[in-house]
Amino acid sequence: MQALADIYKQFETKTSDYKKDAACEKSCGFCCKEAGKIDITTLEGMVIRKAMKGFSRPRQKTLTKLFQQEIKKRENKVMAACPFLMKNTACMIYDVRPFSCRRIYSNHICSSKNPAVVNRQVMEAAGQSIKQLQQLDINGYSGHLSYIVYMLSIPAFLNTYTQNEFKPEEIMEFGKAHEIVINKLMG
Ligand code: SF4
Repeated sequence: MQALADIYKQFETKTSDYKKDAACEKSCGFCCKEAGKIDITTLEGMVIRKAMKGFSRPRQKTLTKLFQQEIKKRENKVMAACPFLMKNTACMIYDVRPFSCRRIYSNHICSSKNPAVVNRQVMEAAGQSIKQLQQLDINGYSGHLSYIVYMLSIPAFLNTYTQNEFKPEEIMEFGKAHEIVINKLMG
């Protein structure tokens, strides 16, 4: 977990000069609603799961529903907002948000016709950080947030993963259908 935080920190330090020009505002949330996939690693998924366990029962119930709805929408190619986005556009898991959410910003205010503009240098640094995250989680997987959270909710998969074992056959079917990537193969 510390190594994960270190990768986030290194990226922030490397890119802070570019991000000074960002047009992002607290009340926006465009990326959380319309920016497409929010890819995370299984290790990031574990951190998110831990944060979710600290939520009240009603919030956990609502989130489970929202995740199910979001997965269905995505499977039907319908854009869906992140289940962690609150009505006031705050992020429910801001302190432990995954790298995908940390790397994105834009040099102008975004709209569906005007998507985010990010400095090339930041994109390159993000690519390096993603490689580091996947190497750190070498027996794990990467994919959209709700898919990874779902995979980690399957007891057999969770057991294999937390035992640091590697059995991709366990999630082969789901993985193929949901563009899940095997970190080991991303080197
Ligand atoms: S995890 Fe938080 S920051 Fe990331 S997309 Fe969801 S609401 Fe937005």
